[in-house]
Amino acid sequence: MDELSPCDVLVVGAGPAGSMAAARTASAGIPTLLIDAKRRIGAPPHCAEFVPTRIFAEFDISPRSIIQKIEYMETTILDKDAIRSHERKPSVQDCNDVDDLAVSLSTPASRTRTPSPGFMIDRVQFDRELAHRAAQKGATVLCDTKLVAVTGDHWVLRSGSRVRAVKPRYVVGADGAQSTVARFLRLPWQKFQIGVQVEVPLVQPCRHTMVFLHRSFVGGYGWVFPKGLGANVGVGIEPRPGAMPWAVLHAFVEYLRRQRIIRRGVLSTSRGLIPVSGPRPLLFLRNVLFCGDAAGLTHPVTGAGVSQALISGDFAGRSIAAAMADNGPDAGMAYDAEMKRHFGAVMKHALAKRHYMTTRWEQRDFEALCRESWIAYKGYKKRIVRHENQGEELHA
Ligand SMILES: Cc1cc2nc3c(=O)[nH]c(=O)nc-3n(C[C@H](O)[C@H](O)[C@H](O)COP(=O)(O)OP(=O)(O)OC[C@H]3O[C@@H](n4cnc5c(N)ncnc54)[C@H](O)[C@@H]3O)c2cc1C
Repeated sequence: MDELSPCDVLVVGAGPAGSMAAARTASAGIPTLLIDAKRRIGAPPHCAEFVPTRIFAEFDISPRSIIQKIEYMETTILDKDAIRSHERKPSVQDCNDVDDLAVSLSTPASRTRTPSPGFMIDRVQFDRELAHRAAQKGATVLCDTKLVAVTGDHWVLRSGSRVRAVKPRYVVGADGAQSTVARFLRLPWQKFQIGVQVEVPLVQPCRHTMVFLHRSFVGGYGWVFPKGLGANVGVGIEPRPGAMPWAVLHAFVEYLRRQRIIRRGVLSTSRGLIPVSGPRPLLFLRNVLFCGDAAGLTHPVTGAGVSQALISGDFAGRSIAAAMADNGPDAGMAYDAEMKRHFGAVMKHALAKRHYMTTRWEQRDFEALCRESWIAYKGYKKRIVRHENQGEELHA
């Protein structure tokens, strides 16, 4: 096993979190190695590609990856016919019958619009630009290079048949939902939702995202996010026994075709895991800082995580740079405290809402449940108060 040239900071994962962290430490003059297991950084993407407008200015990201503007989100609750067609509230098992589901997805029960300014991006280009920026700042970027083991202070990396080790002062775990850094450090697994998606042609371009809530999208939702002439259409679903995400997506696509929202044909397919258990209790372990999905910073209700990945990666890099300067504060503790200050309240509320929603998914009136737990509705803002042995209550 060879020793790679010395690096003070090893960043594992060149997604938005890792590239932001690497750019920060490299621009502070710290020798930084940014690695990614993918053969081409950013590809294939596992993302519906919607990001809020503000991130471009906040992080000075070039607009080259922007495909189109989004003005608002349209939320549609689909349920009435689902109940009518089954003569009872359908269960997860009912969703295994694709035809049944396609019939049940017919008339919307209710529809609402919420301001949601943002952009649809080309996620491959977005990730690659951030990795290029890290390289411009002085980081060494290596694709097709995977973290394969941690032995003592040595972090073992494999590129093809070549195995090498580094002994960094700090490590940034930015390696996504199924973080190998966390696994090698024996940290517990996160809970996930499965996201499956197809890229399809649209009947008509539009400037809003569409969210569909239906009992078959267990614990999640269906989306149509437009990208010029096409759209990303997907569903996020809890991995409960009997869940068949691709079958549910197929039925959803059929429904969208019948509604004349999309045309026939599929340009690409993708899948991914969305962490939904909220932030790890501690976002660091000794000299290792976790960012983005690896830290569990994805929003537990919407599944959005690009913005949190950028913010956490940026701050992890800053914390390490400050700690490595003379008499700097402890990087892990400073980072953890700042992330809790930044995301703590939002995540706590979203987690409580997720728990409320998923534990009532099959019992509660579906439209009422959506109005209490989906971000587009006023009911989402209501706090959940837990009473000992008496369940939960919603408060204004
Ligand atoms: C279907 C789906 C749709 C989504 N849609 C949206 C959306 O529209 N908007 C939004 O904001 N968020 C969305 N998300 C979430 C968003 O994609 C993530 O939150 C975001 O990518 C997190 O960035 P990250 O840098 O933390 O991790 P990632 O982008 O996952 O990057 C992690 C990187 O680590 C690398 N890696 C993993 N293991 C190793 C290893 N052992 N060695 C080296 N490299 C390794 C991977 O190759 C990967 O490139 C979606 C997620 C899914 C699954």
